Amino acid sequence: MEQVSERLQRLEESATIVMAQKSRELKARGLNVIDLSLGEPDFLTPAHICAAAKRAIDEGYHHYPPVAGYPDLRAAISEKFQHENGLDYAPEQIVVSTGAKQSLANIMLSILNEGDEVIVPAPYWVSYSAQIKMAGANLRPVSAGIESDFKISPEQLRATITAKSRIFLFSSPCNPTGSVYSPSELEALASVLREYPRILIVSDEIYEHINFSGRHHSIGSLPGLDNRVITVNGVSKGYAMTGWRLGYMGAPLWVAKACTKMQGQFTSGANSIAQRAALEALTGDLKPTHKMREAFRKRRDLMIEKLSIIEGMQVNVPQGAFYLFPDVHAFLGKSYKASRWPQSMNWHSSSLKRRWYPQ
Ligand code: PLP
Repeated sequence: MEQVSERLQRLEESATIVMAQKSRELKARGLNVIDLSLGEPDFLTPAHICAAAKRAIDEGYHHYPPVAGYPDLRAAISEKFQHENGLDYAPEQIVVSTGAKQSLANIMLSILNEGDEVIVPAPYWVSYSAQIKMAGANLRPVSAGIESDFKISPEQLRATITAKSRIFLFSSPCNPTGSVYSPSELEALASVLREYPRILIVSDEIYEHINFSGRHHSIGSLPGLDNRVITVNGVSKGYAMTGWRLGYMGAPLWVAKACTKMQGQFTSGANSIAQRAALEALTGDLKPTHKMREAFRKRRDLMIEKLSIIEGMQVNVPQGAFYLFPDVHAFLGKSYKASRWPQSMNWHSSSLKRRWYPQ
């Protein structure tokens, strides 16, 4: 009988991965596809990080690593958190995983019970909802529109909290809006959360290094949230290392132990070579990262300029990540003639115009 588990039936397929697969197929058929599905830098991993990986192979890092990560990498992450983010996590509180995605899955599966609620500002990264559902919990979205730069207010947060609330999960800089919570906005959210000690805070900071607003701020550095904040990060976005699959978290010790137990039964720990490369990424030269950030900022400015030409299109100015989340309400239910496409948008080939914008 071909019958998958109820758990799997509950699980949504990753929409971005489905779209990426589709675009690969179309490209293989010779079509000119602009793939905007997976959020990944188009740059190659910086040379000094690749060199560290090659060294690791030569030095014999060929065996199972410790489940939570090599001690020197966990120590380097603990130090990075302290010096760059003002976060206090001892090395035992660090868990290295196969991408931040696995860090998040570990957290959801280790902490949530059936019926628990996870509060998430919307719009949110699609995997959040799938992982929460897989853990048997319910996602409680708090919607924020373009008029508030897609950021929620402390009043909205307070109004969403119930006796079942277990986790508040958010990303700043945010996928998919690029919004960045300022220190005072983080403090306003923290002032509500301090009143509800049962709620753990999961701060997804994977876009830390792609921040155009100046210094990155971590909610875990604010006072009065001791032992409640789990900070998730990784090397995918800031160091162009999506394929290496390496993420990490700093967490209260009991959460770190729980996630280590969980991952011990899934992956036995993150890839040894990727861990050595991550150590170099986190302790080495940040110039390539800053160069990439500057390129992303220029592309953001170009996209805003071009999209703003379209009458009715509303665009905010994302302060981080590499996403734009234009408000297209004005166009819903309307059709558009290809012949009226503005000249300034002519990076589309005419065949694409015909295909995607039927008359
Ligand atoms: N968190 C957010 C908000 C993301 O956008 C992504 C990737 O797109 C991840 C986590 C996962 O990152 P990783 O490649 O480290 O698994």
